[in-house]
Amino acid sequence: MPHALATHYDVLVVGGGPAGSTCARVLTAGGARVAVLDRAEFPRVKLCAGWLSPGIWDVLELQPASYPHGLWEWHTCHVHYRGKDHAIPCHGWFIRRYELDQFLLRRSGAELHLGTAVKQIERDADGWSIGPYRARYLVGAGGTHCPVARMLAPARPRRAVGVQELEFQLDASSVARTRLGRDGEPELVLFDDVGGYGWNVPKSDWLNVGCGTLDATAARGAWRHTHEHLRGAGHLPDTADAELAHIKGHSYFLFEPVHLDAAYRDGALLVGDSLGLAHPITAEGILPATVSGRRAAEAILAGDPASYPARLRRDPVLADYRRVHAGMAAVGKLRDRLRRLTGRPGASAESPSPEGASVASSSAPPGTPPATPSGNEPARPNGAGNGVGSAAIARGFAWMFSGTPLPARRLLDLVLRTGA
Ligand SMILES: Cc1cc2nc3c(=O)[nH]c(=O)nc-3n(C[C@H](O)[C@H](O)[C@H](O)COP(=O)(O)OP(=O)(O)OC[C@H]3O[C@@H](n4cnc5c(N)ncnc54)[C@H](O)[C@@H]3O)c2cc1C
Repeated sequence: MPHALATHYDVLVVGGGPAGSTCARVLTAGGARVAVLDRAEFPRVKLCAGWLSPGIWDVLELQPASYPHGLWEWHTCHVHYRGKDHAIPCHGWFIRRYELDQFLLRRSGAELHLGTAVKQIERDADGWSIGPYRARYLVGAGGTHCPVARMLAPARPRRAVGVQELEFQLDASSVARTRLGRDGEPELVLFDDVGGYGWNVPKSDWLNVGCGTLDATAARGAWRHTHEHLRGAGHLPDTADAELAHIKGHSYFLFEPVHLDAAYRDGALLVGDSLGLAHPITAEGILPATVSGRRAAEAILAGDPASYPARLRRDPVLADYRRVHAGMAAVGKLRDRLRRLTGRPGASAESPSPEGASVASSSAPPGTPPATPSGNEPARPNGAGNGVGSAAIARGFAWMFSGTPLPARRLLDLVLRTGA
């Protein structure tokens, strides 16, 4: 039943994170009347390391120098893998989500209805209504538990990844004394089986520490190992431990091609985590969230919202994710074939270390529970490694982490059959 005193918009956006605010900004710039509804008051805490890869600035139409809040640019990524530390030259940024999300939402130009938890959504012949707000189009940008996504029910062939994280403020000099590299340089603790990684990111007087695992049930154990490793290496100030008792968990979905099938239905569009778009290996989610917000808005402004899934598939960022996903599936198949031929359970390009499965054994499609040595306990991050292969894996991971676009895309499309 439509509300008697309804306020009319062109688009209702549920969720004011990077996906929702980017969508709203493109829509308002195109002349649409937009309302963003978020259950939180902003600024709000969002669990996230705050790493941005270089592609983000174009999507946001923002220069790093114009961003008015904390911004840490880095040129070296420190990867600890199989008992060794690798300092790898590559490039990216860190921000604090507390600041970025508030900044993006305020500059969107949309009408903001904050502290508004969306529970009930109704559809009639003219469009969508949420309480007293009505619009022709509805955008679901509410993250993993988005109420619009519940309605459109994207297929989920894999389980969500599990993540633990805390960002907390402490004395800048103790952060500077204990950090591995320069301010803002990430220290990544890649688990032996490559089923996840931990991180430690110094942001001046803030520290962001956490870990993520493909198997969500392994996240707590992975955090214990990450913490032990960082403490043992002397990379955490003593005063951090009391804060770290408050670490929190969350989960979200990595990109799967089939997720895009639910991107649009009947005037409703899903963007960002509500659709499940994070990078299949690194779990980077801010870039695909903003990309999808932009593509959804462009489809609406073009008067052809049903073109949104195709626009998303064509986008170079998502097209690379499809290639990575297909590459991982191909490696998984090859590994299974090798296993059958050799009769060895872990046949792979690199011998497994005593403490974790090899990289080839963890190159299964994303979301596949990693082959961990003890059920829910992840492979320990301090296993001894085989030098050359381990260094290559650490380098490859840092390269992925810096968000470098894939090379030789045409060739990859031919080999992986990922062409349009
Ligand atoms: C611990 C952790 C670390 C991460 N680190 C990184 C990183 O370093 N770099 C990176 O790129 N990605 C990272 N990610 C992933 C990234 O945070 C997400 O992919 C990204 O935030 C997705 O943006 P979004 O706008 O889709 O959703 P969100 O940022 O989750 O925003 C969703 C919004 O919807 C609102 N909402 C939810 N339900 C309702 C409702 N019923 N009614 C109204 N509002 C609602 C929420 O309050 C929220 O503001 C990390 C994730 C986690 C959990």
